[in-house]
Amino acid sequence: MARIPGSAAALLSRASSALPVVLIRPEVLRRRAQAVVAAFPGEVLYAVKCHDDERVLRALVRGGVRGFDVASIEEVRRIRRLFGPEVTVAFMHPVKPKAAIAEAYHHHGVRRFALDHPSELAKIEAATGGARDLELVVRLAVSNEGALLALSGKFGAAPAEAVDLLRQARPRARRLGLTFHVGSQCLDPGAFTRAIALAGEVARAAGGVDHLDVGGGFPASYRGDEPPFAAFVGEIRQAVAAAFGEIALACEPGRLLVAEGASILVRVEQRRGQRLYLNDGIYGSLAELRWLGPCFPLARIRDGLIEVRPEVGFDLFGPTCDSIDAMPGPHWLPADVAEGDWLEVGMAGAYTRALATRFNGLGAAEVLEVDDWPWYLRPSADAAHSAPVAA
Ligand SMILES: *Cc1c(COP(=O)(O)O)cnc(C)c1O
Repeated sequence: MARIPGSAAALLSRASSALPVVLIRPEVLRRRAQAVVAAFPGEVLYAVKCHDDERVLRALVRGGVRGFDVASIEEVRRIRRLFGPEVTVAFMHPVKPKAAIAEAYHHHGVRRFALDHPSELAKIEAATGGARDLELVVRLAVSNEGALLALSGKFGAAPAEAVDLLRQARPRARRLGLTFHVGSQCLDPGAFTRAIALAGEVARAAGGVDHLDVGGGFPASYRGDEPPFAAFVGEIRQAVAAAFGEIALACEPGRLLVAEGASILVRVEQRRGQRLYLNDGIYGSLAELRWLGPCFPLARIRDGLIEVRPEVGFDLFGPTCDSIDAMPGPHWLPADVAEGDWLEVGMAGAYTRALATRFNGLGAAEVLEVDDWPWYLRPSADAAHSAPVAA
């Protein structure tokens, strides 16, 4: 796969494809990973599901990420194939096929497994042949208030159940942990404070735990007014000191690590007033434009020029026959947007390509690496990466 120097506009002027184009920016990803690893007082496990392209994963490892939160045996195999036995693979899905647990344990050296129900504990015990070197992590249900996307509907043990489960897991575990997920794109650092306080009560009632994994949910900066990661780390440090004193910590960011590291180029196929029909939509790479709403930074690309001119709020529509394939606005763009223009959707690294389907024979995209410093991020301190916005 070619590595294309220069800006997205320069790239497009050479592209002949009518497909959407995903631009992966390894240097942006590497720097973000480096900053998150430096700021967090514990292990940083990247939630692979968020964007599992090999180029994304390698950039995060170059930035210092040494652990991965995986949800399926395919992700386990993939991480081991790419990075070998040295990285930590934590199988954090609370409901796993027995064969997946067995393969992960016996063939891929996975020791850390999440669970939120006694039947999963029995499954893990059977699949690992009664192993005694496990790291068992009980997933606690916590409030997802404050997050734009709730992740509490399916998983997580209620506090009393979590206490029982920790007691049952204790004799089978070399290391016992607690985890939770406050919901994705969580805008309230206090959500972590409350979840950690609850985890502390559960841990005390169960006779203590060896580690605490505060999950993911840290927000990416789509609008620019989201609290920074440092605010979350501050809350987490304080809450952990109050509830646990000293304890080994981990976190599982997805969105925070990869959102800014990719963008998506889509073409306007038709304009009807303030409605734009695009060559990609929610069944392709743009589902988050519906689920998170119109918060993504947008630019128009025409004749090799990238323009950020928020003049008119448009509704966007994807290319499939399904009328759910819509991304209601206002998505702000120049007033003269027209058929044949390309749009660059910035901050589009998280839950974009990862969710694409081939519904209607659509959903394919070109994926390219670029090394420009994108217009939707503040200028880099490193002059070599402050590329001009016009090509
Ligand atoms: C999806 C997921 C994450 C990552 O969530 P983000 O909101 O992208 O940070 C972390 N942990 C678990 C268990 C998840 O399911």
